[in-house]
Amino acid sequence: MPRLFPHQVRVQTDRPRFPDRCVCCGEDADTTYRPTPPQRRRGMPEPDDPLLLPYCFDCFEHLHASQTVGTMQLLALNVAVWGVAAMMIANLGGTVLAIGPAAGLALYIYARKIAAERIRKKPSCAGADIVMRSVWDRRETYIFSFASESYAEEFRKANEGVLSGGA
Ligand SMILES: [Zn+2]
Ligand SMILES: [Zn+2]
Repeated sequence: MPRLFPHQVRVQTDRPRFPDRCVCCGEDADTTYRPTPPQRRRGMPEPDDPLLLPYCFDCFEHLHASQTVGTMQLLALNVAVWGVAAMMIANLGGTVLAIGPAAGLALYIYARKIAAERIRKKPSCAGADIVMRSVWDRRETYIFSFASESYAEEFRKANEGVLSGGA
């Protein structure tokens, strides 16, 4: 189960209405971001319309940048770890395999540099990366969780008709 954000709303749909404000900073939304939808109950057909989160351009930009950096850091870690693992397994001479950890470190540093340049959060931003996560709870109930308390509050109001009272 993915880690949820502190402000959670239970609804009886996996396609709730999102208030037309940026889910990160709360300003007017200019675009949408397609998050990973919550896992559905076994046997439920996938809906045709994707889950779309309203985003402003600024936040879309920093979200994308931080995800790119996250992917690169993961890759860097893999290069470093597998470089080291290969060295231990094969026990070959150090020169070739030493490229692994070194390249991993270089990638990691590069990713950090991009992070500093491109992830420009505003003071009003709820987070640099994803700020909403949703999970299937049980039966028809899905939990939508937000990093932003005010957005969670508006979301609750927008979905008043489909709120789930379950604890
Ligand atoms: Zn925003
Ligand atoms: Zn933001």
